[in-house]
Amino acid sequence: MTTADSTPSHPADARELAGWGVWSAPGRVNLIGEHTDYNGGLVLPLAIDRRTTCTVSPRADRILRVTSTAGDGQAVELAIDDLAPDAMAGWSAYVLGVAWALGEMGANLSGVTGFDFELDSDVPIGAGLSSSAAIECAVAVALNDLWNLGLSPMELARAGRLAENSAVGAPTGIMDQSASMLGEADHAVFLDCTTEVAQSVPLHLEENNLALLIVDTRVEHAHATGGYASRRASCEKGAEAMGVKLLSELSVHDLPTLSERVDDETYRRVRHVLTENQRVADTVEVLRDKGPLAIGELLCASHASMRDDFEISVPEMDLAVDTAMATGAVGARLTGGGFGGSMVALVHQEDVDPISAAIASAFAAAGYAAPQAFTVHAAAGAHRDSVTASK
Ligand code: ADP
Ligand code: MG
Repeated sequence: MTTADSTPSHPADARELAGWGVWSAPGRVNLIGEHTDYNGGLVLPLAIDRRTTCTVSPRADRILRVTSTAGDGQAVELAIDDLAPDAMAGWSAYVLGVAWALGEMGANLSGVTGFDFELDSDVPIGAGLSSSAAIECAVAVALNDLWNLGLSPMELARAGRLAENSAVGAPTGIMDQSASMLGEADHAVFLDCTTEVAQSVPLHLEENNLALLIVDTRVEHAHATGGYASRRASCEKGAEAMGVKLLSELSVHDLPTLSERVDDETYRRVRHVLTENQRVADTVEVLRDKGPLAIGELLCASHASMRDDFEISVPEMDLAVDTAMATGAVGARLTGGGFGGSMVALVHQEDVDPISAAIASAFAAAGYAAPQAFTVHAAAGAHRDSVTASK
């Protein structure tokens, strides 16, 4: 059981607070720092201007009922008294799991009434832009307000992670939920995943005539299975061999020792994490000292490390990255957990269309499904959109 570092208060009269309203939370794109989060390392994501909206209306009983405009339109219901990871399955676990997680973190749910949750989203699903964290964070901010829990944004991020880890069963780190909670317009979120201290880092993209181009390769990734779990296992193996709890306790200077203690595959996996962690720190420094035009090489080095050492890229992703770079991108890399999903490229604004077109042609020539290209802007994190909404 996870304990929050502040004890949530329980409202004297839950019904009084249970008005209905609209809350929303963004998806995120990770600029750099992949698979560093669960190793206690550094990440630099940003919340994007694609959001999941959660409209909540109160019920008189103790049922939580969820619907979504995505999928088959079926409603899923669960009684508050039955909240448990085993009692939820499929997409509704992202919503119900948060309600359960808040209870685990100390919220007193004994007197509260239920809600209807209606989800609507323009975050692409399963594209590596964290539609999952967008749901979790929208629900977490909603329930924090409705149940008057008084939890901080970081505590709500933890509730989302607990839901994803335990109710959904995806062993992800804290990055996605932190970005979705803490994002700000035109800023990235620089997060140390051990201390959970976050800083907003200005991106200055607009004034440098730069854009962030996302290309969804349309290759579906599956976090909860196979590759992601095996990469985590390799990281744990490397940490154990070096006598540390988390790889973030090591640095690139430990690589020679590591190479004597582990097999080649484990070595390459850990080398990715240690060099990637260094690249995040370097990116923040370069952004501050020289500005965004100067981070291209770091983005490309990150991609090469994911492709060759961590081996989480796919041919479609490499083609998108190579084509973007050949067409004038400043930098490009896989973003998200890997095994498909999206590319993020830093590009000059006038290159958005030519690069998108070049990638579409390259995919067609290779016989791949048509990719989807769009730009994103750094946007605000999770918040309440309205005190009362009119239907
Ligand atoms: P990502 O977070 O990169 O989009 P995940 O596999 O972590 O990919 O999460 C995708 C899953 O989240 C979907 O398979 C679905 O279960 C759920 N999901 C995301 N957005 C929605 C939505 N708007 N409505 C219902 N379920 C959703
Ligand atoms: Mg996700």
